[in-house]
Amino acid sequence: MADPAAICPWHLPVWQSLTTRDRQPHAFLFGGPAGIGKRRFAEAFADWLLCLKPRPGAACGECRSCQLRLAGSHPDRLLIEPEEEGKAIRIDAVRQLADFMAQTAQQGGRKVVMLHPAEAMNLNAANALLKSLEEPTAETYLLLITDQPSRLLPTIRSRCQVLSLTAPGHAEARSWLAAQLPELDTGQHDALLLMAGGAPLRALQLQTMDAAALRRQVVEGVKSLLKREESASRLAETWTAVPLELLADWFCDWTLDLLRLKTGAVERPLNGDMDKVLPYMARHVTVPALMEWQDWLLQHRGMILGKANLNRVMLIETLLIQWKQLMEKR
Ligand SMILES: [Zn+2]
Repeated sequence: MADPAAICPWHLPVWQSLTTRDRQPHAFLFGGPAGIGKRRFAEAFADWLLCLKPRPGAACGECRSCQLRLAGSHPDRLLIEPEEEGKAIRIDAVRQLADFMAQTAQQGGRKVVMLHPAEAMNLNAANALLKSLEEPTAETYLLLITDQPSRLLPTIRSRCQVLSLTAPGHAEARSWLAAQLPELDTGQHDALLLMAGGAPLRALQLQTMDAAALRRQVVEGVKSLLKREESASRLAETWTAVPLELLADWFCDWTLDLLRLKTGAVERPLNGDMDKVLPYMARHVTVPALMEWQDWLLQHRGMILGKANLNRVMLIETLLIQWKQLMEKR
């Protein structure tokens, strides 16, 4: 959608300055946290670049190019992404990109390639992309999108114009989310934003996953585990609907809260639904034990995000046993 309304309101100042300048570099890297609207921004920018009569700030919506886009297909626009979510972008995909860039534009205007998420390129793919970046084709634009710019080759980053897109402040995020989810109350909006680390589109996605209900199930489970009313193995077997990625995120958030409580950075946990459990645990854990646990947790979170082949039940059980034993370690 080239309609600037599709762009998140907190990105409009960047959008305005980008679409009112005379010349554009041939490669962009849109970076910033996940779930803040980078993809929407890049899509709108691709539409604007392809428009044959663009105005400052908006595609015209009427030219042949805009008509093609509104009909859902534009021959001079290519999206490169992993074949399956979470998998790598391979060299074959980047070769397809190079072929596309070498062709003449079918509509006689510009060509645009979007590559998302850019950090998913494996090394061979990244090296192949470098060639395309070094030998730009006239009127052809490459838009890379990434949550993790640091995972890209520095030689790729340095050949792109890097545009860092940021999350909105809490008040703006909350009012945006309230407009999307008017059926929820402010407390629910805040809870979603907290789980999403302040990223509004991620918060919206969490709502569609019914994350709040899953979170309640996990919080209750953790409480009964610590009270010895429930075993780690039984919880691991009953949490079948909880995505591992969410589970790892929550335990990471709770661990950060424990560290903040231990170091006196906060008096109460930021995670309000754990405001009894976490202060109790903080009194019984040591900082070295927490650091060791955090290493384990981050390592396994990385494996989960990398779609490693993990035994789900066994992983949750191990996680819960370690969490419980944290208070026994010195
Ligand atoms: Zn147009």
